[in-house]
Amino acid sequence: MSYNLVEIPCPVCGTSEKRIVYHDTLAGAPAEFGYDFTVRHKLTFQIVECPHCTHRYASPRPDDIWQEYQDIADNAYLSHEKDYVATFEKVIKVLKRFLPSGRLLDVGCSAGFFLSVAAHTYDAEGLELSHWAVDLAERKGLRVHKKRLEEFHPRTLYDMITLWGVIEHLENPDAQVKYIRDLLNRGGYVALWTGDVSSLPSRLLGRRWWYYLGQHIQMFTEKSINELFSKNGFEPVYRGTYPYIVSLRSVNRSLARYPWLHKITKPIFCHPRLAHKSLTMKIPGEMFLIFKKADRD
Ligand SMILES: [Zn+2]
Repeated sequence: MSYNLVEIPCPVCGTSEKRIVYHDTLAGAPAEFGYDFTVRHKLTFQIVECPHCTHRYASPRPDDIWQEYQDIADNAYLSHEKDYVATFEKVIKVLKRFLPSGRLLDVGCSAGFFLSVAAHTYDAEGLELSHWAVDLAERKGLRVHKKRLEEFHPRTLYDMITLWGVIEHLENPDAQVKYIRDLLNRGGYVALWTGDVSSLPSRLLGRRWWYYLGQHIQMFTEKSINELFSKNGFEPVYRGTYPYIVSLRSVNRSLARYPWLHKITKPIFCHPRLAHKSLTMKIPGEMFLIFKKADRD
């Protein structure tokens, strides 16, 4: 397929002024949208920075990128279910401090790993575009709508909406966060996890920072994500570091994108006596944020 690339003004503050940070490395080839990491995932559209709000984003880029998610099917993702579930059990403990019970919507819920944990606490349902992932979630008895956020019109509102590693994929975060506000009850919450492009790992690794992927078209700073939510009627109530729980085998898989390091870690992390051991990693710049819908009147 070939893309129809379009120039995008800043998706957070709307300014069209921009500074080029990294040039396009896809050179017309399709970007990778699957879960399992390959070296092709590192190829990106041109990355630019907004001089006003500090947000970084892909521009020019395809204007209908959401369609790419419909045909994603990736069994490698499923092999990490145990890690995801353990992580989400930690995450839920934080969410419960703000909302002990109520209606929850998980946007971009994939195969429903978060929903299956959330269902013990909340009346939970999800939105997902991948046919494959929706099918898997439904087979587990989870309630998932195969719809884009903007075409989803529920009959009742939610008390919390969650986006785990999703906001960096959104095409129109300003309009989409505004719509999320409309789907929330008074005093409702948004909880999310995404990377901070102004963090130390990002500054040290530059172009090799793990969020620079063809499928990531938004790269927030703490400043730009706060601006996005505050302009759309939210106030920040929690800022933490996302608690990844990972087995050493998964850590090893993630390090495959840094071949020199991978060569050293592979024999250690894949040793039969260590591969299944888990650890909690709190990596600087992995923002875990909760915003509350502010009263406007
Ligand atoms: Zn901006």
